[in-house]
Amino acid sequence: MRLLSPLPPLLAVVGLLAPVDFAAQTQGPGQIRPRPAEGREPEFPPPNIREYQPRSTLVVPVHLVPRARFPVVDIHGHPPALTSAAVISQVGAAMDSLNLRVLVNANGSTGDGLSRQLEAVRASPYRDRFILFTTLNLRDVGPGSGARIAAQLETDIKAGAAGVGEIGKGFGLSARKADGTRLKLDDPELDPVWETAARLKIPVFIHVADPSEFFAPLDYQNERWLELALYPGRRYQDRSRFPSFEELMTERDHLFARHPHTMWVLAHLGWHANDLARLGRMFDSLPNLYSEVGAILYDLGRQPRAAREFFVKYQDRLLFGKDSFQPDEYPYYWRVFETNDEYFDYYRDYHAFWKLYGMGLPDSVLKKLYYGNALRLVPAISRAGFPPLRPQ
Ligand SMILES: [Zn+2]
Repeated sequence: MRLLSPLPPLLAVVGLLAPVDFAAQTQGPGQIRPRPAEGREPEFPPPNIREYQPRSTLVVPVHLVPRARFPVVDIHGHPPALTSAAVISQVGAAMDSLNLRVLVNANGSTGDGLSRQLEAVRASPYRDRFILFTTLNLRDVGPGSGARIAAQLETDIKAGAAGVGEIGKGFGLSARKADGTRLKLDDPELDPVWETAARLKIPVFIHVADPSEFFAPLDYQNERWLELALYPGRRYQDRSRFPSFEELMTERDHLFARHPHTMWVLAHLGWHANDLARLGRMFDSLPNLYSEVGAILYDLGRQPRAAREFFVKYQDRLLFGKDSFQPDEYPYYWRVFETNDEYFDYYRDYHAFWKLYGMGLPDSVLKKLYYGNALRLVPAISRAGFPPLRPQ
């Protein structure tokens, strides 16, 4: 036992002045040095996952971006039903403040619901600012369904819809066929639908599955533990009720490969924003595949260099989309895409236990992401208000 000089008890506990026996710490090759606090327990009860909110002391430049640098098409819009002049003006005013030029209503409207919204938009001062996609009735699919759904699709497109979508994640995850079995993404009964979309040259906007962690065990290594603990409807661990993540990916890839002439727009970067190389391989093998960036900002903002490289490489395949229509959330996207800001907050703590960094995309890439690719895929969008892609 070493003799200590008398210390005030608090300092002794903190350990700042405790003598260190360097000789005893000599390491052999490959030996791991014990951590200074090894074996210690916090003196105070540790905070729980929601309580610990450390204040960052980092001082770095801050560039808030309330308005996008270029006008934007949001291909993944979920506004309230555009059936009245009041709603259209309210949504339109919020869009103006964000520099959101065109919103694609991806709520998937068909028949009368579609016609009523198209009429209301045409009668409003925002007639150039909204595009409507139709949806597919994928309930109780059985023999003959494919032809019937394809016919409805053609009717809706003639009525003024400019694309299909959003096809929701229920397709693949939970939708059942008339015979009670799960409707697989690549079910051949639906082939006529995808071929009709290809013939009409309209995009098919499809959301498949959810983040892979929603299918993984709900343990303390799960990146989305808090979100899964908050939302029981996002738990897909039960294999007797849900397919696995990879099963859905296999069906999806098979569907896309079987319909190479259909213009596929995959929602949420296909839930591969945490593995961009995987999405890159899909882009490489499927020239008609596009994808949008809704609700995965937390994955781009934690790998700004790799994400920037990916966005530059695949600049002709990426579209802007936001998903839920919350006007105050869009500026987080503008900031990640446009600035080089570092270590800033995201807007949902249960999505990401980390900070975001800006990707600093070049203007030429930003323009394609914000509107150029959408104008190419959806010719029904008016060119008015968009700058030319290359200086003329
Ligand atoms: Zn959506």
